[in-house]
Amino acid sequence: MKHFTTDRRVVVAGAGLVGALASLFFARRGLRVLLCEQRADPRKRSWQGGRSINLAISTRGLNALERVGLREKALEQCIRMPGREIHAVSGERVFQLYGTEAHHCIHSISRGSINEILLEALSKESKVEVQFETRVEKWSPEGWVFFGPSGSFTVPKEEYLIATDGGGSIARKQMIAYSQSQATEEFLDYGYKELTIPAGAGAEWQLKKEALHIWPRGKFMTIALPNLDGSFTVTLFLPYEGETSFARLTSSEAVTRFFSAYFPDVVSLIPDLLSQFEANPTGHMATVRSGPWHSQSMGALLLGDAAHAIVPFFGQGMNCGFEDVSYLDGILASGNKDWISISEQLFELRKPNADAIATMALENFIEMRDLVGDKYFLMQKEVEKRLEREFPGLYQSRYEMVSFSRIPYSVAWRAGEKQKQLLSKLCQGVESAENIDKALAHQLIEKDLREFFPYWEDKNGSWH
Ligand SMILES: Cc1cc2nc3c(=O)[nH]c(=O)nc-3n(C[C@H](O)[C@H](O)[C@H](O)COP(=O)(O)OP(=O)(O)OC[C@H]3O[C@@H](n4cnc5c(N)ncnc54)[C@H](O)[C@@H]3O)c2cc1C
Repeated sequence: MKHFTTDRRVVVAGAGLVGALASLFFARRGLRVLLCEQRADPRKRSWQGGRSINLAISTRGLNALERVGLREKALEQCIRMPGREIHAVSGERVFQLYGTEAHHCIHSISRGSINEILLEALSKESKVEVQFETRVEKWSPEGWVFFGPSGSFTVPKEEYLIATDGGGSIARKQMIAYSQSQATEEFLDYGYKELTIPAGAGAEWQLKKEALHIWPRGKFMTIALPNLDGSFTVTLFLPYEGETSFARLTSSEAVTRFFSAYFPDVVSLIPDLLSQFEANPTGHMATVRSGPWHSQSMGALLLGDAAHAIVPFFGQGMNCGFEDVSYLDGILASGNKDWISISEQLFELRKPNADAIATMALENFIEMRDLVGDKYFLMQKEVEKRLEREFPGLYQSRYEMVSFSRIPYSVAWRAGEKQKQLLSKLCQGVESAENIDKALAHQLIEKDLREFFPYWEDKNGSWH
């Protein structure tokens, strides 16, 4: 039996967000790292990530960055988004706060910035070697085979592979082929297309700067996140097929008609809408559920999207991947030096949470594209805010648990299910959040939510 120990070099495949952060954590623990990335160094060319241009980073992601001293640097590149602004077809806008406290905000950051911050930090680590244009190709009984500018090479069998090669992971596919790992890939029947609202003539933001913008249209939607240069990255989420779908947007007239009917205010903000629509690719989204994430015989561990890609509607894919890395570091800190046992522990701790956020991300799509414009839903949100104010420590919304705390995702999911039932009982026959029965609310909270009180009371997450 092979022994993979942490005193050997660790090889990381994929210098995206999770791979770069994991390499930094390893270096800070004194491990030697070879980090291989299939693309060229993003610092030497304009960013061509091929994925979303900007991302929302929240508490879990920021916490992981804090542990390697990069939180403040990242925040310098961020724009706060304390709430969402909902745009009706009529042009009417409503702003909804995400939370109840001043620090309850998510942050918009460019994918390129965050990757560069991590790569710059790695360049200062003497134990880390980064090889760009080098990809992991396959597994062989001699070890993992890579291909780079000087041809192919096999990493020695004793060196452990951390595979952070994203949602389409080659490593995962090889592990499915040659070990006990299994995976399901569930593709959404929606695609997404990114567009840019440019900055105004004086470099100003043409929409409210500190907000995540949503144009909910029932079965589809558009969102926009602010960038530091005054622009917004807009993402249209639309079914591939059907009455209103990408399949119908095949001519300039059809695109113009579609945007004018559903997003008239967006049309006026993007002068070159048609050329952007034509030039920009349509991306796909999938939920990947896999397990186990490690293979003893192949000497490998999957992390981030390679293990558990999720749809982007809770803004948690990167945050969850960063949290994987924090947990992994916690296990390394305990002194465990055996990669297999470390990987087993990590899988046990993280798998239920990865599954829970995958489910919540799918559910949040319905909330964003449909419910945020629904009066009854909005009243329930108001009721939740009221409960949080009236019963501090006894109630916290699922959104807050996911975005503004490190409460395990699986706990947030369970609490959210109970809260849905509680809210529906409280809101029965009620027309305004002010009119809920407070005594009944207290009674239901005590009866149904008691098991979650320790999580809500403990702001420092010492259960973590
Ligand atoms: C439209 C959209 C919006 C999103 N918004 C958010 C958000 O707001 N907040 C959030 O937290 N998450 C968001 N996400 C999810 C987030 O992008 C991912 O969860 C995150 O990028 C995962 O990081 P990763 O490092 O695991 O994978 P990736 O970022 O995909 O990185 C994988 C890296 O591996 C490299 N690679 C691939 N194959 C190989 C190979 N064979 N050998 C070597 N290198 C290889 C790739 O080039 C890449 O650099 C969004 C995703 C999408 C699609």
